[in-house]
Formats: sequence, structure tokens, C-alpha cells
Amino acid sequence: MSNNTSADGDDAASGSDDAISSDAQTDDDDSDDSGGGSSGSDDGDGGDGADEDRHGTESGSGDGGGFPDTGGAEVPELPAGPGGSSPVTLTFDDGPHPTYTPQILDMLAAHEAKAVFCVVGEQVRRHPELVRRVVDEGHALCNHSYSHDAELKTRSVETIEQEISDTAAAIAEAAPDADVAFFRQPAMYVTPEVAPVVEDAGLTVLDWTLDTRDWKRPDASTIVADILDQVQPGDVILLHDGGGDRSNTVKALAQVLIALRAAGYEPVLPTA
Ligand SMILES: [Zn+2]
Repeated sequence: MSNNTSADGDDAASGSDDAISSDAQTDDDDSDDSGGGSSGSDDGDGGDGADEDRHGTESGSGDGGGFPDTGGAEVPELPAGPGGSSPVTLTFDDGPHPTYTPQILDMLAAHEAKAVFCVVGEQVRRHPELVRRVVDEGHALCNHSYSHDAELKTRSVETIEQEISDTAAAIAEAAPDADVAFFRQPAMYVTPEVAPVVEDAGLTVLDWTLDTRDWKRPDASTIVADILDQVQPGDVILLHDGGGDRSNTVKALAQVLIALRAAGYEPVLPTA
């Protein structure tokens, strides 16, 4: 269901989603992603350049070794939006983050929109109260592995299982009522090494089809424009609430929600 270039492109496959996040896991005020040096404000750690490189590398290997048969994202078909609106799904990766996740939740509440939070197990352990809030406010959770290992596909089946089950356990402790149906692999679309383990765990893969590249910290207006220029019905939109300075993502969100609705789109939750 990859229906746009962004999703199919190298960057997307490479997982913008994550270049980043290997940092995300290291600390929670985190790090930085890719950004190429301008590590921002609250983040502090360096390693940007290295991430960028790895990103590139991953993108290459992702293209060659990912899913050559489909070449695209594996996402569920979205339920129709209310009143004939076109469905899209907003996803926020690498949290929960103590600064940005609450701001994003406030914004979603103000606009009566629901989203999927692809949480990292280590972050869930650090901020269980945020996971509870996500669930209490009617959003969905997605298992995004425990340590955000961008090399997950190279690990043993046992390790992959552990990454998934440790995250599930952390979520279950934080929010016992949470129904977690989805899994998103760190740094890339799901790979053939990981997909069967996800299936055995009873989870549905949730890749993305529209990559905002917000991890590169474009300004908010660029994030908004990128989404509006590319969005198509059924898109799963990749954004980040964790893994680095997400203040521009927060700033963009209200405009994104308003503009999507003005264009006939409605954020919906996918069904597994
Ligand atoms: Zn991620």
C-alpha cells in the first residue's frame, strides 16, 4: 500500500524513523537524531554524524534486502473516515517523551483526533504514566521494540522475541487495559527476518506510507507542507514524539490537523 514516493523512497525505507532513535533509547531527553550536528536544545548527545551515516547505510541495505517483492510499506487498510472523509493515520514514534508526548496529547485532545503511539520499551519503563495517559485518552499503542535496535534484523529469533515481549510486558505494567495490536520495526519497514516473529507474537505490522522526515527537524511549516503536498487516502503518516527535539513537530501538529480536515481527511485508528 505504498502509495507515494516518500514512502517508497530510500529515506523512508531506511527508516528515518530511526536513525535517530538508537539515540532515543540511550537517554530520554535525548538525543538527537540525525541532525547533522545541530544537536539541539534538550538533546545533548552527539553522534549526529554517525547516525546520518548509518542512516544512509541502512537505506541502502533496506532497499536491497527489505521486501523486494513488495518494495513498500506493510500497513493495514484504514477504516473509512466519518462522513465520507478520507482516512489517514497519524503515528508518533520513539516515545513516550516527558516533554513532547504531553504536548502532542494536549494538541490531539484539543482537536479531537486520535493517533497511534509507537513506543519504545525502555521509554515505557521510564514514563509509564504517559503510556497510561495515551491509553486513557483513546489513542492506540504500537510496540516499537524495547531498545530500538536498528539492527534488529541481524539478531537471533530469541532476541527479537525478547525485544517484543519485554516491550509488551512494560506496556502491560504501565497500562494493564491497553490492547496493543501493532508492531513497527526500528529504523525501517519490517524485514523478512523480523516479520514472522511479529506474527507469532500476534501483532500486526504497521509501517508507514508518508514520511515527514520530522527527525531532520525541518521547520513546522515545512512539515505541514510536506504532509499536505503528499497525503493520499489511506496514508499512515510517520511523525516523532521521541528521539530528539520534537518542538517543530509539536508546532506543526495543530496546522496539520486543521489542514487535513479542510482537505477532507480524518485521522482514524487502524484496525488490526
Ligand atoms: Zn523509531
